[in-house]
Amino acid sequence: TSYGFRQVADGEKQGLVNDVFHKVAKRYDVMNDVMSAGMHRVWKDAMITALNPRKDASYRTLDVAGGTGDVAFRIVEASGLKAHTTVLDINGSMLAVGAERAQKKKLSGNLDFIEANAESLPVEDNSFDAYTVAFGIRNVPRIDVALSEAFRVLKRGGRLLVLEFSEVELPLLDKFYDEWSFRAIPRFGKMITGDSEPYQYLVESIRKFPNQENFAAMIRTAGFSRVSYTNYTGGIAALHSGWKL
Ligand code: SAM
Repeated sequence: TSYGFRQVADGEKQGLVNDVFHKVAKRYDVMNDVMSAGMHRVWKDAMITALNPRKDASYRTLDVAGGTGDVAFRIVEASGLKAHTTVLDINGSMLAVGAERAQKKKLSGNLDFIEANAESLPVEDNSFDAYTVAFGIRNVPRIDVALSEAFRVLKRGGRLLVLEFSEVELPLLDKFYDEWSFRAIPRFGKMITGDSEPYQYLVESIRKFPNQENFAAMIRTAGFSRVSYTNYTGGIAALHSGWKL
């Protein structure tokens, strides 16, 4: 790009991502609010409305790249404290913050935490009613492998929901968003953690992520049916949905 970021090789990618989230784990929730101007809350709420979790103790969901637990907490709360959610993340520091938050919210009984890679899930085939991932899949080096794993672990009739930054469709918003993400976010990152490069990398990863249509095609390739998506805030984020039928 004209912003001149260095290219990151695939093998190096996971290492960089891990660095970022180890550094920010304790401040992640504050940073999320600052960097998305609070919008991530609205998008996550919309994701849970789309999921419409069953109010049933047998309902099981897997929240991949679940970090500090935002999506998992919402699912459990929306199920009337019935559902069980497994929060899976490659980063133990993020999970530790999540487990602590869960205790404070008295939701620990409905949750468990697994430190693992989205590319190789240590869970059985056909075992979840839903697989969710919010702002995590673009960090995974082999997205196709992660999607195949999602398909494997879902039950027949199970639902995939992916919330991710996407392609902005409004020209003016696009310009503003470029300024915000390429200039403001690395600066905030530097202010908060003393280092801007990992944030430059994260912003760059948003640009490299496939757009709405191309990502929908990848989900179909992994075996999912009835694949669709909904744009949020002019396409800054999009929610993709698919079913294992
Ligand atoms: N889902 C949470 C949310 O929306 O607040 C956290 C999103 S955070 C931007 C991205 C998360 O992806 C981090 O917690 C990071 O550790 C995790 N992650 C990155 N690569 C991963 C991988 N290969 N497998 C599982 N999690 C991964």
